[in-house]
Amino acid sequence: MVLLMRKFVIGGNWKMNRGTAQETKEMLVPFLKAVHTLKNVDIIVAPPFTALQTACDLIKGSMVKIGAQNMYPEVKGAFTGEISPVFLTALGVNWVILGHSERRHIVASETDILIFKKVKAALAAGLTPIVCVGEKLEEREKGNTEEVNRTQFEGSISGLSATEVTKIVIAYEPVWAIGTGKTATPVQAQEVHGFLRNLLTKKYGADIAQQVRIQYGGSVNDKNAKELFSQPDVDGGLVGGASLDPEAFAKICLIAAEIRK
Ligand code: PEP
Repeated sequence: MVLLMRKFVIGGNWKMNRGTAQETKEMLVPFLKAVHTLKNVDIIVAPPFTALQTACDLIKGSMVKIGAQNMYPEVKGAFTGEISPVFLTALGVNWVILGHSERRHIVASETDILIFKKVKAALAAGLTPIVCVGEKLEEREKGNTEEVNRTQFEGSISGLSATEVTKIVIAYEPVWAIGTGKTATPVQAQEVHGFLRNLLTKKYGADIAQQVRIQYGGSVNDKNAKELFSQPDVDGGLVGGASLDPEAFAKICLIAAEIRK
């Protein structure tokens, strides 16, 4: 088995909170200044579609990459209101968040089958997908955390080949922790990250499983990031609220850079 130090990946998901060119400049200019020396962490900022062009222009020459928050799993066609993965790559977007809980449960009732199709289409277009999984509060309270995460893993990830799966990032995002200020404890996060890595090991073998990065998402901030990111199977974070504060988000990136140098 190859034991390696996985590079941390930190994503900032702006959701629908900032999206004009002006807001994008106000967020990214100070952030880029604060993180410009960091080379050992993959940093992704995911603004709404309307801000992608401005964001791609601003990050030129920096280590920061831009991600979209969603895409459609076809290249072209009669899909009114949808965005093709090749439109994203043409802008200079490199990453895409797929299967976020807000898309699974609030805005679009996305299914595992649809998310899997999106993951395949993203990879085919050369985008790196961040594939989100995570249980709701009532599912955790009923003792179904593992079952829910296994079902989402099997439906939206495990149909990938071994080569494909090393190209994705998994984000474990317990729904009850997203935007609520109720972070999973480091122990709770590690339990599910370890469980997901075991699923990867069973399906792909230990060498592949050790290469796949699994981020934690759910009320990560500059106060709790160090403890969460110090867990052995936590390879960084997907950050919502705290990514709207350039200073706090930069601090989270600096914390990650210090842990795995
Ligand atoms: C998210 O948007 O994926 C997220 C984890 O949000 P927050 O950090 O605000 O909980």
